[in-house]
Amino acid sequence: MTNNNANSGTSAAERIEAVCSRMNEAASDAGRQPQEVTLVAVSKTFDVPDIVPFIEAGLRVFGENRVQEAARKWPELKERQTDVELHLIGPLQSNKVIDAVGLFDVLQTLDRVKLAEALMRARDKGARLPRLFVQVNTGEEPQKAGVIPDELDDFIARCQKEWQLEIEGLMCIPPVDEEPALHFSLLRKLAQRNGISGLSMGMSGDFETAIRFGATHVRIGSALFGTRT
Ligand SMILES: *Cc1c(COP(=O)(O)O)cnc(C)c1O
Repeated sequence: MTNNNANSGTSAAERIEAVCSRMNEAASDAGRQPQEVTLVAVSKTFDVPDIVPFIEAGLRVFGENRVQEAARKWPELKERQTDVELHLIGPLQSNKVIDAVGLFDVLQTLDRVKLAEALMRARDKGARLPRLFVQVNTGEEPQKAGVIPDELDDFIARCQKEWQLEIEGLMCIPPVDEEPALHFSLLRKLAQRNGISGLSMGMSGDFETAIRFGATHVRIGSALFGTRT
């Protein structure tokens, strides 16, 4: 796929600069330091030649939502640029855990007991686990992945005590038709009461709001790479 979209007139460096200055302004408005917020560049659906300019322009943290697609693209990219950090932001099936732990540095979508157990087994066999975020279904949408808020404290406690899995953060994807601020605020509250510092929230359309509500990671795709086809 090539960048035949609205952003194609601007360079990768210009788009990164535009997003980063909006992030910095939102952080400053909220009395936060810019370095408290990590930009996760969501490169799903874009191919290696589309991603390379963003690495060359200095981005180091990327997100993908499909294990197989990432496995096709990222070994080559990581070989070119060894300090890249790759996040899985889409669902992980338990039977793909072995593939995923070898490829991803951060798993943002830990969302169920079966997956936690599969991770624990992979670790017992010697795998180095990615850093972990628990996905929370803040809107309690039946079709959406994530632990529902009522079950979150218990799930986190089991991760920590039963499986010795350290939880670095929480992640949410608000319902499309609701005010995202409500969900960002809820996620922050859930993190605080569980003593968790990482908050992955905010996408191209709402990352400034997310930063105001304490996001430590914003996941930005189309504002960087252009519209997905
Ligand atoms: C695609 C995706 C994003 C990025 O969305 P944009 O609106 O393109 O910024 C963020 N988070 C998740 C989980 C995604 O699947």
